[in-house]
Amino acid sequence: MGTASATLRPVHAGPRPATGQADGPLPPEFQPGASVSRLPGLRLLALDAHGRALDWMSWQDATCLYARGAVAWTLGEPCIEVHGGTNRRSGQRSVLHLHPIVAARGHARPQALDPTPALTNQALFARDQHLCLYCGREFHRSSLTRDHVHPVSKGGLDLWENVVSACFHCNSRKGNRTPQQAGMPLLAIPYRPSWI
Ligand SMILES: [Zn+2]
Repeated sequence: MGTASATLRPVHAGPRPATGQADGPLPPEFQPGASVSRLPGLRLLALDAHGRALDWMSWQDATCLYARGAVAWTLGEPCIEVHGGTNRRSGQRSVLHLHPIVAARGHARPQALDPTPALTNQALFARDQHLCLYCGREFHRSSLTRDHVHPVSKGGLDLWENVVSACFHCNSRKGNRTPQQAGMPLLAIPYRPSWI
């Protein structure tokens, strides 16, 4: 596809005015036949097959998805026409019509399928609103720690449901004990957050 070129096909949204005068001229980059190379910022939205947004992609990347048959479904009217190479047997030039929103088959990233954010201290402190879940005071994130409610040394897991934000003081006071053993009840039950 080294010689592929693309042309924009204007997509008319909504009814057009009766007279062309009132419509005004289209900007040059949206004239039919405009080369996409003049539209370096043109991006299409890539979704995974579940409809979750993955990222913006260039029309070249989108073309690869179409050419590989990796497009699960699309949204919107085709907005770009991409001309590929000429078939030696048929003499026909291949043409792809790209859509503004493209869901890719088998293109899902694990974190796109799982709405739970990765368990980092930053995400943990954000979930707990920068509060120590033992003393209830608010701290800067540099003064917070990740406390394992059921201590790791006692078989506790490093999971969202077993970690809370704790200030240095409370964390060291709790030590290798459960909240019950330490007599330090939690102010909230830790939970698995979701971006959605
Ligand atoms: Zn505390």
